[in-house]
Amino acid sequence: MLATIADIQDFTMSNATFSEIAELLRQHDSFVVMSHVRPDGDAIGSQLALGHALEEMGKTVHYINEDGLPDNLAFLPHSERIVKPAGEVLDVDVAIALDCATKPRLGANALVAAEKAKLWLNIDHHKSNPGYGDVNLIDSSSPATGQILYHLITSEGLPMSAVTRDAIYVAVSTDTGSFQYSGTTVATYEMAADLVRQGLDVGDINAKTYDSHPYRRVELLRRLLNSLEMSEGGRLADWKLAYAVQEELSLKPEDSEGLIDMIRAIEGVEVAAFFEELQTGEIRVSMRSKNPAIDVCEVAKQFGGGGHTMAAGIRTEGSLDGVRGEVLKVLTAQIAAVASV
Ligand code: 5GP
Ligand code: MN
Repeated sequence: MLATIADIQDFTMSNATFSEIAELLRQHDSFVVMSHVRPDGDAIGSQLALGHALEEMGKTVHYINEDGLPDNLAFLPHSERIVKPAGEVLDVDVAIALDCATKPRLGANALVAAEKAKLWLNIDHHKSNPGYGDVNLIDSSSPATGQILYHLITSEGLPMSAVTRDAIYVAVSTDTGSFQYSGTTVATYEMAADLVRQGLDVGDINAKTYDSHPYRRVELLRRLLNSLEMSEGGRLADWKLAYAVQEELSLKPEDSEGLIDMIRAIEGVEVAAFFEELQTGEIRVSMRSKNPAIDVCEVAKQFGGGGHTMAAGIRTEGSLDGVRGEVLKVLTAQIAAVASV
């Protein structure tokens, strides 16, 4: 098989070793730990996991996220430490970006907070990550950034507190669709077993992660279902959400998290897409593929986005129906070019 550009980038990316990263962490005193805008479980979990390990090592840690802590992850111990950037430049040695495919996806205010850092560490599992840190660890074979951190922490003997343990579990669980997606590996299950062995309460953490959604999320689902469209002989499913509906239902950004899995799960569907109009007027696109031959990351890149082969996203200017039309056109062509699974 011919190598794709992404493969070549993966190959030429010069990754630091775990021991080099551990040495870097030991040698410095103050850190700002960040992740991407609209943070999900892997973003927040990764911030808490590494941040708390650093605190246990006696370091000063600032936890910054452009959009702050979403309500659905506020059950994670220590998560109250994750704050929105207040506009000040933090006096820190090292800036750490976790689970964040591009530097701008950290957010403009978070970048201001990290301005004084002398060193940038970039740990991620997105294959589209260009390696924007001074020190990089990009492992696109890992299903979650949290799993990379687990291997870093355990192999280097860094502290594994209960905070770090629970945060890693939630990071990996949410990014693997509860340990179901194809990227889930032997190492993922062995990691989960080890975390349970170390005292993690599986029933409790899963109930908090998956069984306590606000009612408005179901109202959102109702609206999304009304907009559902199937095309390409049932291989492509999409739904959309106007900003006016978000205002009407008082939705929060995290309310739609994971709902795309419902249309991804339809028999015969190979690509699912969700189009959302943001308050800023931009359009956010979320895409999922069930066919490895249909690389939604490549589609996302055509619109300035990125992600993984089977899960990718875009944020772009335009109208909801305009962006939907353009993206569906590219997806339709991609689907038509490959045999169905
Ligand atoms: P989701 O659809 O869950 O928001 O994102 C799916 C994947 O694509 C995630 O790994 C996420 O980080 C990535 N992603 C989502 N939106 C964007 C975007 O606007 N730019 C880039 N580079 N990656 C994105
Ligand atoms: Mn992730």
